[in-house]
Amino acid sequence: MKREFAVIGLGRFGGSICRELSAEGMEVLAIDSDEDKVNEFKNIASHAVIADSTDEATLKELGIKNIDHVIVAIGDNIQASILTTVILTDLGIGKITVKAQNDYHEKILNKIGADQVVHPERDMGKRIAHNIISSNILDY
Ligand code: ATP
Repeated sequence: MKREFAVIGLGRFGGSICRELSAEGMEVLAIDSDEDKVNEFKNIASHAVIADSTDEATLKELGIKNIDHVIVAIGDNIQASILTTVILTDLGIGKITVKAQNDYHEKILNKIGADQVVHPERDMGKRIAHNIISSNILDY
């Protein structure tokens, strides 16, 4: 059965998630407040719409309640990220993954009920460091 995803924020991180999920045949609703970003994903995601995710009425109109898993990939605007996450938790979305900008942001996201908080630069740095260590061990 196809799962339904929504990606809010189509920067490098959100855009990459959206491309991968779509390439795997998933139904993806791509949302961004920037028209150019949305146009970029028109032919990639199942639906791509211009919307401000901090507007609860707009999210409801988009049928966000029917989405299984929402990924909030708004980076720089921490206030918008937090407000969007609160709206999604209030609406009872099944799974919410949010990109955190820093440790304080991460703490707040956990408190307000995000199911998964990711910190891409830090998480990838950790993973690469471990890869470097294990490939060095194999080299000896
Ligand atoms: P990356 O490093 O992944 O490129 P970033 O951390 O620089 O991303 P931003 O560029 O701040 O993140 O945000 C990612 C996207 O989120 C942008 O395309 C921006 O237009 C979009 N965005 C920001 N606020 C909102 C909002 N309220 N509603 C919808 N989209 C938003």
